[in-house]
Amino acid sequence: MPCFYRSPLLSSLDWLDHAFLPAGEAPPAESIYNQQRHTPNAVLDSEALPVKSREADGLIGTGTRPVAVYTADCLPVLIADSRHHLVAAVHAGLHGALGGVLINTLHRLYALGATPESLNIAIGPSIGPCCYELSEEKIASIRQENPNNLAPLMALSKQQHDNPHAVRPQATSTTQGVWFDLPLLAKRMAGREGVPEAQIELSAVCTYCMAEEQASYRRNSHFNHGYLQRFSWIKRR
Ligand SMILES: [Zn+2]
Repeated sequence: MPCFYRSPLLSSLDWLDHAFLPAGEAPPAESIYNQQRHTPNAVLDSEALPVKSREADGLIGTGTRPVAVYTADCLPVLIADSRHHLVAAVHAGLHGALGGVLINTLHRLYALGATPESLNIAIGPSIGPCCYELSEEKIASIRQENPNNLAPLMALSKQQHDNPHAVRPQATSTTQGVWFDLPLLAKRMAGREGVPEAQIELSAVCTYCMAEEQASYRRNSHFNHGYLQRFSWIKRR
C-alpha cells in the first residue's frame, strides 16, 4: 500500500503500524472510523461500532483493529501510548481543534492510564501556514470566544510564507486576512497538555501546495474541482 507520508517518530515504535495514506486510497478493510462532524467528541473503538455509527472526531483504539480518520485540509493526528499500547486517530480542523477534540482525546487517554511522557504524537499532512488564510473577522471572533483558552496558542502571520517545497502555486490571498499555522496550534495544544516537545512531530506537508492534485478541499474549491478524502490510520500490532 503506497504511503503518502510516514512519521519517523511512529515508525520507531515496534508495537504499532500506521499510515498517512494518499488522497483516494482506502484504509485497511477492518478499520474503524466515525461520522466526522468537527465535533469535540472522542470515543473508544468499542463505542464506535458499527463503523460510522458515531458522530465523533477523536477515536481511541484499545484493540488491534486500526482506528482511522479521513481528512482533506484538516489535520490528521495519530497518537501512540507506549505504556498500555493504546492508539488514537484525531480529525482536527480549526473548528474541531478549537472545540477541544485533541484535548479531549488526550484526556481520555490519560484516564485510561496513558501519561504525557508515554505519548508520541504525529501531526500529519494538512493545509499549511503557506496556504491557510483566515479573515480578520474570523480571527476576531475566535479571539473573542477564546474556546478552551486556545486563542493565545494560534500562530498567525500578516505575511504569507514562501514554501520552497511547493509543487504547485500556493494559495493566493482572498480576504486580505492573516496566515494561520494549524499544525503548530495542534503541537502547542499537545505541549500544553504536558506531552514533551520531542514526542510531537509535524509532517510539514501542505495539502494545498505540496500534495497530490486531488488532496486539498480548499484548493479544489478555489478551482472548482472535486477532491478526495485521505485516510490516516494507526493500529497496535
Ligand atoms: Zn501550502
